[in-house]
Amino acid sequence: MSYNRVALIGLGLIASSMYWAMKRAKMGSHVTGYARSSQTRETARKIGLCDSISEDLKGVVLDADLVVLCVPISAMGKIMAEIAPHLKAGCTVTDVGSVKRSVIDLVSPNVPKNVYFVPAHPLAGTEHSGPESGFAALFDNRWCLITPNGADPDAVAALTIYWKALGANVDELDPDHHDLVLAVTSHAPHLIAYTMVGVAEDMKRVTNSEVINYSATGFRDFTRIAASDPTMWRDVFLSNKEATLEVLGRFTEELFSLQRAIRTGDGDFLHDYFSRTRSIRRGIIDAGQDTGAPDFGRPKD
Ligand code: NAP
Repeated sequence: MSYNRVALIGLGLIASSMYWAMKRAKMGSHVTGYARSSQTRETARKIGLCDSISEDLKGVVLDADLVVLCVPISAMGKIMAEIAPHLKAGCTVTDVGSVKRSVIDLVSPNVPKNVYFVPAHPLAGTEHSGPESGFAALFDNRWCLITPNGADPDAVAALTIYWKALGANVDELDPDHHDLVLAVTSHAPHLIAYTMVGVAEDMKRVTNSEVINYSATGFRDFTRIAASDPTMWRDVFLSNKEATLEVLGRFTEELFSLQRAIRTGDGDFLHDYFSRTRSIRRGIIDAGQDTGAPDFGRPKD
């Protein structure tokens, strides 16, 4: 099973990066793109994204071997219902949503019997959105987690080959486990960053803007994360509610223990704690999931 014709639904950061990565890998003889707004379609055409672009969902998915849902999670169920009658028998539908259980619940009921649905999540992104923010190397050496949930093994194998060709390392995970892991590694950290930037915004009033003017690297990293797309992140928290709340509960307990150590002057506790977290950071760099560069090797604007 290989994909000759690919349809990208939603032309933002992830879809455009997939397109450029496909071109780099010389994959997909014809790639069609759907975007709901004329502005996004116009921008996409201007930068040469996809072989054809349309606002007509039916036309975009017709004859596709692979359809990729690259829209916010809350839009996926409706789009699946709309495209279902027009899908070619034997085609694969996949998605790139950051939460897997709720995507499966939203999409699966509308997947026709003769179509494969293989949910997936590339663990790669930036704080930027829209078609112009994509780049071919986004997925290089990043994980793409496939959560088959009983999907046909041949369809899973084909999607694995596809993501590897886009530069990613691929692994399979149970959807609920995926959501818990991502709540720890991505969702709760984003919420904490949003909160910290909110605190600084509030403090600005009592510090005459020094928080912004003299912002140190720690805070700057928070602001980068907190600049992420509001629609996408609203959907992530609403659709991964339980796991995020579970992690935030644990986070609050840890925060209280650190607060207590500061109040009681327990330097040993703080030193031990920070030594453990430093070794976690080193483990992430050793695993190739980030770099030791001061800017974490992220592409410049
Ligand atoms: P993005 O750059 O904001 O692009 C989103 C696209 O979805 C746009 O083309 C937008 O259309 C379209 N869209 C939004 N609401 C829609 C609706 N109700 N109906 C139809 N189309 C709609 O987003 P992205 O970062 O590529 O994220 C897309 C998906 O990837 C999300 O499900 C997200 O969870 C997942 N993901 C994101 C990241 C990340 O870091 N960004 C990482 C991994 C996975 P218009 O431009 O026409 O409004």
